[in-house]
Amino acid sequence: MPAGSIGFIGLGNMGAPMAHRLVEAGYSLQVHDKSAERRKDFMDRHPCHDPPDLVSLGRSSELVITILPDGHIVREVLLGVGGVAAGMSANALVIDMSSSSAVGTLETAALLAESGIGFIDAPVSGGVKKAVDGTLAIMAGGDAHLIDRVRPVLEVMGKVFHTGPVGSGHAMKSLNNYLSAASLASACEAILAGKAFGLDPARMIEILNASSGRSNSTEYKFPGFILNQAYNSGFGIGLLAKDLRLARELMDCTGTPDTLLRACAGIWQQAAERLGELADHTEVYKFLESISSDAKSQDT
Ligand code: NAD
Repeated sequence: MPAGSIGFIGLGNMGAPMAHRLVEAGYSLQVHDKSAERRKDFMDRHPCHDPPDLVSLGRSSELVITILPDGHIVREVLLGVGGVAAGMSANALVIDMSSSSAVGTLETAALLAESGIGFIDAPVSGGVKKAVDGTLAIMAGGDAHLIDRVRPVLEVMGKVFHTGPVGSGHAMKSLNNYLSAASLASACEAILAGKAFGLDPARMIEILNASSGRSNSTEYKFPGFILNQAYNSGFGIGLLAKDLRLARELMDCTGTPDTLLRACAGIWQQAAERLGELADHTEVYKFLESISSDAKSQDT
């Protein structure tokens, strides 16, 4: 894939730093976001083209990257009326880096294939910090020859893991986020119980990180966003609740027992409803704390 002609759609917490890295690496981008503020903020800092509409963006891009809230929005942006695909030529390629539904992605890829447009699902893990550093884990599903074609572009943003055919990247991502969400919720419950028993939360985290209970949540999220009450990881709680719905969809369609996932997804869904979709996902600690104080006041 030669330098140039990349359409980049979605300039949010993840998309903006990822697009920034591509510009810094010498790629010429045409950017789009439905938020005029986010477009302006990006264009003020980078020499990018802002196409008049999505069809024009598609027409002048041989590669289009999407990093949007979910796969429904990706489908609408690509294949809705006046969508990007209407302008794209055969042999052009779409990479969806959003955390989208694996099942929905199979349908989107098949619809694009009718126009000869290739598709790779390449969701990412690592959060805003790794998006800034270009050290994301990129889970790429699709034909090996297509992934090789765009590997230099992807490697500007992180390390590429080929997961298998189209859809497998999105499947892998939803399962990763299930484990991540379960570990954070269980760490919050453990810290709250220890605190109520008289243990010091900071000391608990120090001990967990030297013990078998450690995880990304105890090593990174508790010190970085929860113990200091910053709650500013840049990953919205509504997006994580969505990821758990996608993991449930995968368990349903594969007939896998999901007792623990259902309990976990319920916690995150309630937290997103109580705190609002835009709350930071690390605020789940405050949600679980409020539930435990509600329970104690009912006991007294
Ligand atoms: P975000 O909400 O910060 O950004 C999403 C962007 O999409 C926004 O700028 C919004 O204006 C734009 N958008 C929404 N609908 C649109 C439309 N119809 N047309 C054009 N633009 C539209 O979200 P984010 O945190 O950047 O996450 C993006 C994706 O990456 C999600 O799928 C999320 O699950 C995933 N993800 C996020 C993180 C993280 O730490 N934030 C980590 C890994 C994966």
